[in-house]
Amino acid sequence: MTGAGSLADTPVTRLRGVGPALAGQLARLDIHSIQDLLFLLPRQYEDRTRLTPLGALMPGMTVMAEGEVRLADIATGRRRALLVRLRDGTGSLTLRFYHFRMSQKDSYPPGTRLRVFGEVRAGATGPEMIHPECTLLAAATPDALPQDDTLTPVYPLVDGLSQRRLRELMTRALPLLKQPGALIDHLPPALAGRWSLSRALHTVHAPPADTDRQALNDGEHPAQQRLILEELVAYQLGLLLRRQVQRQLPAPAISGNDLLSGSLLARLPFQLTAAQQRVLTEIAADLARPQAMLRLVQGDVGAGKTVVAALAACPVLAAGYQVAVMAPTEILAEQHRERFREWFQPLGIEVGWLTGKRTGKARQQILDALVDGSCPLVVGTHALFQDSVQFRKLGLAIIDEQHRFGVAQRLALTRKGADSGLQPHQLIMTATPIPRTLAMSAYGDLDTSILDGLPPGRQPIQTVVLPSTRRDDLIARIRHHVASGQQVYWVCTLIDSSDQIEAQAAQDTAETLAAALPELRLGLVHGQLGGADKAAVMTEFAAGRIDILVATTVIEVGVDVPNATLMVIENPERLGLSQLHQLRGRVGRGKLASYCVLLYQHPVSALGRERLQVLRDSQDGFVIAEKDLQLRGPGEVLGTRQTGDVSFKLADLLRDQHLLEQARTLADRLQQVQPEAADGLRARWLKQRDQYLRA
Ligand code: ADP
Ligand code: MG
Repeated sequence: MTGAGSLADTPVTRLRGVGPALAGQLARLDIHSIQDLLFLLPRQYEDRTRLTPLGALMPGMTVMAEGEVRLADIATGRRRALLVRLRDGTGSLTLRFYHFRMSQKDSYPPGTRLRVFGEVRAGATGPEMIHPECTLLAAATPDALPQDDTLTPVYPLVDGLSQRRLRELMTRALPLLKQPGALIDHLPPALAGRWSLSRALHTVHAPPADTDRQALNDGEHPAQQRLILEELVAYQLGLLLRRQVQRQLPAPAISGNDLLSGSLLARLPFQLTAAQQRVLTEIAADLARPQAMLRLVQGDVGAGKTVVAALAACPVLAAGYQVAVMAPTEILAEQHRERFREWFQPLGIEVGWLTGKRTGKARQQILDALVDGSCPLVVGTHALFQDSVQFRKLGLAIIDEQHRFGVAQRLALTRKGADSGLQPHQLIMTATPIPRTLAMSAYGDLDTSILDGLPPGRQPIQTVVLPSTRRDDLIARIRHHVASGQQVYWVCTLIDSSDQIEAQAAQDTAETLAAALPELRLGLVHGQLGGADKAAVMTEFAAGRIDILVATTVIEVGVDVPNATLMVIENPERLGLSQLHQLRGRVGRGKLASYCVLLYQHPVSALGRERLQVLRDSQDGFVIAEKDLQLRGPGEVLGTRQTGDVSFKLADLLRDQHLLEQARTLADRLQQVQPEAADGLRARWLKQRDQYLRA
């Protein structure tokens, strides 16, 4: 709801100086109204409100200073530079310009006064600034240039728009906040407290000189926190809407108690755990409703998610709908295919197979079988998302190891069932436990089931941190281990390198190991291998015909060979904790005691050491994920795809965790009692992000 004077409806072109060209530039930033402009928020603040005496300059400070030119000269040396030496009564400062015109030397005649702004560094002869902003002052009137009376906001860098331009625009826009009805304060007044929206915006765009600049730069100033709360509320409102939209999608109502589940259960060599049963009950209740299920199952590595997926598929198949199972890697998909074939073929259900590598006739066959419905159950990689893949009656999509899939992909899937007018139910499974705060934001639109606890009889994995200088001891231990009939993973990790380089490293390691352990049977898998070759090696390993499997991180997720009980991870310091936890989860899957050796290269940073210790001391994925979040931040923990989905103008999920609960409660309440305020907040904060709501 917007009133006549509302800045939400006032185009930016109403500001003096905003012509079509500038309006075009702003539009590219999705800034159309004056409200949009005011919600372009500074990233950082500079202090040009005071002069710092040259004698007080310390490296690292970003300051404004003034002095008299004593010398301007061109220094030759390793790198030619124009040096300008300033002095005041207290000390001196050298300005260094690497890019300069010859004539520039003469623009700083000795005796002139210069005002500069920049970052101080330690130079050879005292403090220096490199390429500072400079303003010449008339020598006679040293105070001719006023100092700013507010801190200087620095806006996110915007193509072709200067900071000066943006500051000018804000200066013109801020006074408009005084108009009645300019911007509606959607937060309850009791909460907004001293920080009305208008006051908060004034403070962040034009902070008075005495504002705590450190707090501003850290995003911890109350004015910012007030806006952050609003942003988080808006974000939660976005999720609520997405949830609402999704919950209205018609889906087939599928009742449980089917014969298929019973037959599958009867054939399993184990009993379901209480947690597995509980999660299955939650899923069954969702499936029974005529709206699409959207459920995330979080279960630690080895918790037994696969069988839950299979049992969730049973009633859907029994009701005559198709089921698609998606995994993020070929190896994992292959493993699911094998597992599902083992379980479903005896029950008379064929398992189809589709990955990007499946081409030609085989591909056409499976595509046809999905369209005509003759293939009830298909396993594959994200190739299943492609437009060319159509289903006759897709009833359930299962996405394993969800952290690799983003919201956009989830939506692409939602559209797959659209032909029949019904949406497929979605079951998303992740083995990367997501810290609660992040889960609330990244997956706030999903219902969550927690598969806690591991199947009975598991032994804890003993984790050892070992320097690579002890490689020989390790090799002796491997010989022993294999002699007792168990198998070994040796994982070579390289970060930021191509599949090819990583494959080479694995190859080299395999050769070294083969030379050191000639009597053992060695296998090698990496991303450069063809699908069939990879599958062949994995099959051999699973069958116990390979003793040591040298691998790259391609085996990170899902691989399940219970007799493999020792894992060596080379260069673990290069990987994220959650990733290491995933890798380590390949062992400890049976009843035998398991070991993980983190073989690190000297030297390891303090942070690196701390991370390895976390892993040594904990086997609880949730604890590890929380720690990972603290050490590396949400971007790394969630992975890039999800980071794209969870990006904020001001909020920082780690710093602002304490506001999340409150934001969530507020969002719920606003949506219920003041839906127009909810719309207003979404429009204010979620402009671009809103797109997927309409997808
Ligand atoms: P994840 O949750 O990591 O995907 P999996 O589904 O691969 O774990 O299961 C890990 C192992 O535990 C598999 O070998 C599986 O057969 C076994 N498993 C699953 N559920 C149970 C259970 N209730 N009792 C015993 N073993 C189980
Ligand atoms: Mg799994």
